[in-house]
Amino acid sequence: MAITPLMPVYPRCEVRPVRGEGVWLIGEGGERYLDFASGIAVNLLGHSHPHLIGAIQRQAETLMHVSNLYGSPQGESLAQRLVDLTFADTVFFTNSGAEAVECAIKTARRYHHAAGNPHKNKLITFSNAFHGRTMATISATDQVKLRDGFAPLLEGFEVVAFDDLDAALAAIDENTAGFLLEPVQGEGGIRPASQEFMAGLRKACDEHDLMLVLDEVQCGVARTGSLYAYEQYGIEPDILATAKGIGGGFPLGACLATEKAASGMVIGTHGSTYGGNPLAMAAGNAVLDVVSTPEFLAQVRETGQRLRAALEQMIPNHDGLFESVRGMGLMLGIKMKTDSRAFVGYLRTRGILTVAAGDNVVRVLPPLIIDDNDIRAFVDGLSAASADYEVPAEAA
Ligand SMILES: *Cc1c(COP(=O)(O)O)cnc(C)c1O
Repeated sequence: MAITPLMPVYPRCEVRPVRGEGVWLIGEGGERYLDFASGIAVNLLGHSHPHLIGAIQRQAETLMHVSNLYGSPQGESLAQRLVDLTFADTVFFTNSGAEAVECAIKTARRYHHAAGNPHKNKLITFSNAFHGRTMATISATDQVKLRDGFAPLLEGFEVVAFDDLDAALAAIDENTAGFLLEPVQGEGGIRPASQEFMAGLRKACDEHDLMLVLDEVQCGVARTGSLYAYEQYGIEPDILATAKGIGGGFPLGACLATEKAASGMVIGTHGSTYGGNPLAMAAGNAVLDVVSTPEFLAQVRETGQRLRAALEQMIPNHDGLFESVRGMGLMLGIKMKTDSRAFVGYLRTRGILTVAAGDNVVRVLPPLIIDDNDIRAFVDGLSAASADYEVPAEAA
């Protein structure tokens, strides 16, 4: 048998971390990596953060899991905090981002069902989106590499160009349930939606009684410098999916909704065995303790500006490689003139971890706790690596 015990769906690389300390990952042989990937926007507090470890340890010793058939003081507390901090009136906890998006899709459809309009079941989604790997979430994107070979896909999604308001409005018909989008596309290449686009979608939703569903699985939880990215657009969604950073490394996601949007989600309509168990709630509460304060959010914005300025100063020195820097807060992308995947692989050999994204972008997603020394180490390392990098023939 040639297949590996781990199903070979990932091109696993030579980095084999066994330990983490703050912004550093340590490999099997003791090699150190500067982690500006954060497990793809997950480890907001870096590795081995004492507050997160303590909360998980205490809860693990006390009570790890009970069924959602019982009352949940831990879940009520985290849900109440999210309600107080956001547009939402109610929260459903999940174990992953894709499940949070699934719940968001179901909530949008149920809203129209409960309102007596079951035909309004089609979500307008956007090109190059990434919403996860379940059947519904791959049906909600036009990315061939996510969909190929998994037919039949689910009905009820229509994909139009991202950030094209006219195309989005033209796609509305009598069966439209709403829009599903990432305010800042992550996997698609760190593309923030424009202000006009977000405001235009909100206005259309108000006029046509549609659901504005945001997928903030990657850009949410303080990553962009506000607790959720929508705040910076001056609009509010009806439904929002969040995950990745919210557990700081513990698997946790959530679907947030207004009371109106959740009007169809009554007893028996949805569920999850693990979703929101006491251990996950302890992790989520510990992360929010740190990242939801105004001081922490201001620090993310300032750190993001300094990192961005340092990158923008560096890239003209390597103008054969880099084009521009884009993004918000500490969700940054460096647009390359060559294959970003090959360059991200080369950076790994220099002890620097980043993530490749679509459109030849290098995703820069450090833990939110980085300081000026970390920024200097990253930008200096990136600059030295860029000077030595020879673009492979197939990546030119
Ligand atoms: C990662 C991601 C998902 C899927 O999250 P999983 O936890 O991998 O299921 C969904 N949407 C966006 C925007 C993401 O970045």
